[in-house]
Amino acid sequence: MKNTGVCPKCGGTEIKRIAGHKQSNGNWLSINYSHWDFVGVHRYLCCSCGFSEEWIDADDIEKIKKEY
Ligand SMILES: [Zn+2]
Repeated sequence: MKNTGVCPKCGGTEIKRIAGHKQSNGNWLSINYSHWDFVGVHRYLCCSCGFSEEWIDADDIEKIKKEY
């Protein structure tokens, strides 16, 4: 959905990107990867059926790989 712009469930093309937060305590749009920092989890939502996907930026994947 992020790459194609098309919903895999219903074929809808109105996809909204909801940015995650990089700094927040316990926010559900972030992952705590160390004691002091977070990476953002960005959500892509299909406005036709409500299906959503979560993505993490390539730079942030490296941070998570070191901790998990
Ligand atoms: Zn859909």
